[in-house]
Amino acid sequence: MNFDFDDTERAFQAAVRRYALERLLPDYARWDRGERLPRERVRELAELGLTGLLVSPDVGGVGGSYVQAGIAAEEIARGDHNMTFFIQLGAIAADLIGQYAQPALRDALLPRLASGEALVAFGLTEPGAGSDAASIRTRAERDDDGWVVSGEKASITLAGNADYAVVFARMGDGGARGIGALVVPLDAPGVSRQVYDAMGGKLAERGSLFFDAVRVPHDHQLGEPGRGFAQAMEAFDYNRAIIALACLGTAQQSLDETMAYARQRETFGKPLARHAGYAFQVAEHATHLASARLLAYQTLWLKDQGRPHTREAAMAKYLAPKAATEAIRACIVLNGWMGYDNSLPHAQRLRDVLGLEIGDGTPEIMKGVVARELFGREFVAYR
Ligand SMILES: Cc1cc2nc3c(=O)[nH]c(=O)nc-3n(C[C@H](O)[C@H](O)[C@H](O)COP(=O)(O)OP(=O)(O)OC[C@H]3O[C@@H](n4cnc5c(N)ncnc54)[C@H](O)[C@@H]3O)c2cc1C
Repeated sequence: MNFDFDDTERAFQAAVRRYALERLLPDYARWDRGERLPRERVRELAELGLTGLLVSPDVGGVGGSYVQAGIAAEEIARGDHNMTFFIQLGAIAADLIGQYAQPALRDALLPRLASGEALVAFGLTEPGAGSDAASIRTRAERDDDGWVVSGEKASITLAGNADYAVVFARMGDGGARGIGALVVPLDAPGVSRQVYDAMGGKLAERGSLFFDAVRVPHDHQLGEPGRGFAQAMEAFDYNRAIIALACLGTAQQSLDETMAYARQRETFGKPLARHAGYAFQVAEHATHLASARLLAYQTLWLKDQGRPHTREAAMAKYLAPKAATEAIRACIVLNGWMGYDNSLPHAQRLRDVLGLEIGDGTPEIMKGVVARELFGREFVAYR
């Protein structure tokens, strides 16, 4: 057993952490106040190799590992939790398009994803189908020229600023086996967008994508028409661990900042860190974050080995956002009145991390997946 990163991973971790703390952290509150993220910022991530981490080198990517994608999310989150969406969605797009697109689409789109020029959203959720994603209603009808897509995708990260979306649509009968995936250019006639007024994660411009008889060429189909649901679940399995690390990096940064405060702030004649009632709270949260972190990296390591990881991914996705929100909430109180002030980043971090307790599967659905993996599919707990 080896719990250590190798030299390349350590150097990568240090470089990404430096960028996050020096470049992202000072601007974290700007996007929360409603300023739109300039595209140059995404191109900076691309220069660090973060948007094309899982894109193959023959089309301009890094060809990195899933563990590296986790390191990137954990470290970027220290500076700006929401910038990890570009890593998460970059990884999913690289995987789905890299594996399932026809060569012409793959060769045209992936270099642009890696260079930060193209943003690709993931469109599964609908107003009437979230946890029960197999019941989506968006339809893709086939004719001689291609597919005609109609429906609404809801709560889509980057809805306001993406250039393409992988859209999961009903191509056949009801249930999971009737779902297929298409790459839809979001400048196509018939596409419209609505960005939500969310409590956090504003940089991500999450919202609805509307498709009114949108024409999509045949060659924008990803794999077989009935494979869409399985493709979405494959992506969820490792992205849940990347999300876990994004939440943990965010919380760890709050905890580190709180520890720096606790070393120098004195009450009753000694530093806060020397009051057991204070230090033990930090110890408890540090322990919870560390346990969830091991589970998340184990998941990504299993994925890199080509081994099953559904159970570990769901465990990590259940545990990490919970541990992170509890730790950040505690940091607000551990910083006294200043913790409650927006001049410190803890309150924004709490609002941001809460979103990922829901995104990619709620805690109840995660526990349902873990229970299903433990007891077997015939005992599935969420149907
Ligand atoms: C920050 C964020 C980013 C997101 N990004 C994307 C994205 O990029 N693409 C995308 O497609 N979607 C995205 N989503 C949507 C997300 O995946 C869904 O919100 C999520 O799967 C839950 O679906 P729902 O909101 O429809 O809730 P529902 O399915 O309606 O559930 C509502 C509540 O009921 C509980 N519940 C549901 N079923 C059961 C059950 N069987 N037993 C017990 N409790 C149950 C749930 O846990 C939840 O608390 C995002 C959401 C958020 C918040």
